[in-house]
Amino acid sequence: MIDQFDREHLWHPYSALGSPLPVLKVARADGVLLQLEDGTQLIDGMASWWCAIHGYNHPQLNQAVVDQLGRMSHVMFGGLTHEAAIALGKQLLQIVPKGLDAIFYADSGSVSVEVALKMAVQYQAARGKPGKTNIATTRSGYHGDTWNAMSVCDPVTGMHGLFGTSLPSRCFVPAPQTRFGDDWDPEDIAPVAQLFAERADQLAAFIIEPVVQGAGGMRFYHPQYLRELAALCRAHDVLLICDEIATGFGRSGRLFACEHAGISPDILCIGKALTGGYMTLAATLCTREVADVIASAEPGVFMHGPTFMANPLACAVALASVQLLLAQDWQGRVAAIEGQLEQGLAPARALAQVADVRVLGAIGVIELKAGLRLERIQQRMLEQGIWIRPFGRLVYVMPPFVIDDAQLQQLCAGMVALVASLQEEDMRA
Ligand SMILES: *Cc1c(COP(=O)(O)O)cnc(C)c1O
Repeated sequence: MIDQFDREHLWHPYSALGSPLPVLKVARADGVLLQLEDGTQLIDGMASWWCAIHGYNHPQLNQAVVDQLGRMSHVMFGGLTHEAAIALGKQLLQIVPKGLDAIFYADSGSVSVEVALKMAVQYQAARGKPGKTNIATTRSGYHGDTWNAMSVCDPVTGMHGLFGTSLPSRCFVPAPQTRFGDDWDPEDIAPVAQLFAERADQLAAFIIEPVVQGAGGMRFYHPQYLRELAALCRAHDVLLICDEIATGFGRSGRLFACEHAGISPDILCIGKALTGGYMTLAATLCTREVADVIASAEPGVFMHGPTFMANPLACAVALASVQLLLAQDWQGRVAAIEGQLEQGLAPARALAQVADVRVLGAIGVIELKAGLRLERIQQRMLEQGIWIRPFGRLVYVMPPFVIDDAQLQQLCAGMVALVASLQEEDMRA
């Protein structure tokens, strides 16, 4: 099943050409099932990296693409607009945390983070604070792979350590320590208070993934951290940027993870599940105040404009995806998945290889005591009939919300069996 051309010529995420780890060739995907070229069916535990919340090949989402395709697939957004962008914008403003009022459509999550950082710096400059140009963030974060997004990823776990000194130097505080569901430890926020006391005059913004730190470690932290952070940002004139690219659209049990804390950021990034996984689209939202201040000073405009900004096909399917989500009892669905993940992954707690098991919303994580060698487990994953993509010490799932009970049971049982089978030679030294 290994494709020779693919192996020799196509790069895959975080891979080398000719990598010994075979990539699986998918022929089609329906609902929660990925069908490989040889007919093997796998239950998808990844929702294509948080995106495919409604599963694959969904009739309503397909129809939205077809309808838009018959009108136009794309027109430039400079000087032109279209109904798909307007209708999606109206819908988004109804559901995002309150206060967010202006939307910048971007073409990927990383770009939306770049846009957020630029907005923050331009905002501070427009207010006559040109010294406030740096960005603060926590350790264990992940915000994307482009240059400035990389600079606010965890320097070690964020996969970009290699670029070291060629990246802008940011202000890092330790990752939040109080776990979601534990008693709040007020000391947890002290490093932020100290950083702001010393350097707020250099800081344009603080960027953070609310409640769930994703690719930087799959950690769930106490919402009080966000409340205190929001208050400190206000007090020290530092904008709060929440990166909900992974958590947006119900994944954590709330529509947006900010809602766990009852806070609204000055700037919000969304992406991934925005189009239900159909195509790439992200957005950076900001408050009226941020937008007005940027417009009030030279050059009087926000300096960014991607070629494929507000791509109509992507906007149309995003609107259909959001409406499909809101039209169902998604909260009941995610709560049911949460309960089943709790139950299904609990047996892993007793395994010698396991350091921790945690679940929040439709996210289930088994953290191992040592890093895994991916190439050693692929065959076992196929035998279990599941698709997962562990990284480092983390074996985790965030399945499509449409997964049924039997499929989810198989997914959990498969993960636990796979972890139980791990031997010393499957782990990194
Ligand atoms: C995936 C992700 C990004 C980057 O999004 P891309 O679409 O891959 O560029 C940024 N922030 C978070 C929290 C993410 O999970």
